[in-house]
Amino acid sequence: MNYQDKMERSLASIRSQGQGVWKIDILSPENVPDLLLDAAQGDTLAAHTLKMLFQAIIDLGKRKPPALCLTCSHVFRNKKCPPAAIVLIIAAVDDPHSSIASPLCHACASQDNLTSRVAQKLKETTIPDLRVLPQPTSAGRA
Ligand SMILES: [Zn+2]
Repeated sequence: MNYQDKMERSLASIRSQGQGVWKIDILSPENVPDLLLDAAQGDTLAAHTLKMLFQAIIDLGKRKPPALCLTCSHVFRNKKCPPAAIVLIIAAVDDPHSSIASPLCHACASQDNLTSRVAQKLKETTIPDLRVLPQPTSAGRA
């Protein structure tokens, strides 16, 4: 199965599992310790996110042709210069089972308004009807 077919299949799976509601995480190495801690404390979504992040890292290294940065034309040819962050798209459910991962280069990952730039690119390329909802706030927070 080529990358485009795999991507289409993952999109369909995420769309049906989340009934059109997606969770988009922009994960950099700094996020991993918190995810590990949450997973160790029984947070299954954190555990699934880590599992999909690690699988994405493995898959990115094998991709032929090499992966492109989500928001620019940088090609990840050099394995010694890995992505600065990975955009992980999963179904917004407690037990997601598939994901789509896109790498971000260091230049793009360090720009302002990263979330809106990523959302705009996903809208142009992958999820035409994407609408960004505000993050729900925890109970008890103003
Ligand atoms: Zn880039």
